[in-house]
Amino acid sequence: MTEPDQQVSNGKRVVVAAPRGYCAGVDRAVVTVEKALERYGAPVYVRKQIVHNKHVVEELEARGAIFVEELDEVPDDALVIFSAHGISPAVRAEAKTRGLRTIDATCPLVTKVHNEAKRFAAQGLPILLIGHDGHEEVEGTSGEAPDRITLIEHPDDVDNVELPTDQPVAWLSQTTLSVDETAMTVERLRERFPKLVDPPSDDICYATQNRQDAVKQIAAHSDLMIVVGSQNSSNSVRLVEVALDAGAKAAHRVDNASELDPAWFTGVTDIGVTSGASVPESLVDGVLQRLVEFGYPPAVEERLVEESLTFSLPPQLRPHDSRSRQR
Ligand code: SF4
Repeated sequence: MTEPDQQVSNGKRVVVAAPRGYCAGVDRAVVTVEKALERYGAPVYVRKQIVHNKHVVEELEARGAIFVEELDEVPDDALVIFSAHGISPAVRAEAKTRGLRTIDATCPLVTKVHNEAKRFAAQGLPILLIGHDGHEEVEGTSGEAPDRITLIEHPDDVDNVELPTDQPVAWLSQTTLSVDETAMTVERLRERFPKLVDPPSDDICYATQNRQDAVKQIAAHSDLMIVVGSQNSSNSVRLVEVALDAGAKAAHRVDNASELDPAWFTGVTDIGVTSGASVPESLVDGVLQRLVEFGYPPAVEERLVEESLTFSLPPQLRPHDSRSRQR
């Protein structure tokens, strides 16, 4: 990063958005695997990618983490960590039945949505869950009340919901959606279901909101937005869409600097850069360095807001915790 008077070179400019990169839930999940490896030794099994970033996963694999899709790939007596995206009660029950040692790295903001689902279900309400089919977080949340939850993927899905429109219906959402599209979906839900019941607070998390707001701030004056993040990272993919909606002339997602295509930079003077909530800063540094090699000046940062939220580690990994077993 550099001072503003150094930011323009030959009319070219690179602005890097802030906040970007790691959120509190991702940081906690990654540190959970690192500390578990330190404390219990390799191998440590992790159900699903601990966070949706292939570099993070590869780095942890090199240190002894074994990533699996389902618990039947985990040997008896092994230690298994549940990822930041959360799990359904059925997975938790399976681990218990098998006597597996477990550590839960579910982000507390995902757990909050699970608790809302349980509460609405206990009140007897049908629940409309706005989210992406097949995403691990949606699978986990749906598992809290499978008979009551209906998935809404797009605003147009609202018209096809087969529920009485004169009865109360609750809604919830995945934590990493587009803030604006979700607001549009909720508006349509409220039109169709006048007795719509809101969650007590926003389900889209602070990190998703802040990264989208920060991108909006710079996209309007960017010829090109580069979003660092993996293909399966919902919040990274949303940042590309938000940038385009906010006026960026083009936007591309890359996993790392090697995926930057020189053809994207023809005639481009103003570049914006950001990263998803599961992306280590070293990958952004690599992209900024490559832009310098392409003839762009060092980036200047535009910060929208400071973030200070942190989450404590799962109980088994907290310092001075006397518990020695993980259940
Ligand atoms: Fe938690 Fe939000 Fe980060 Fe997901 S993106 S891990 S919900 S803080």
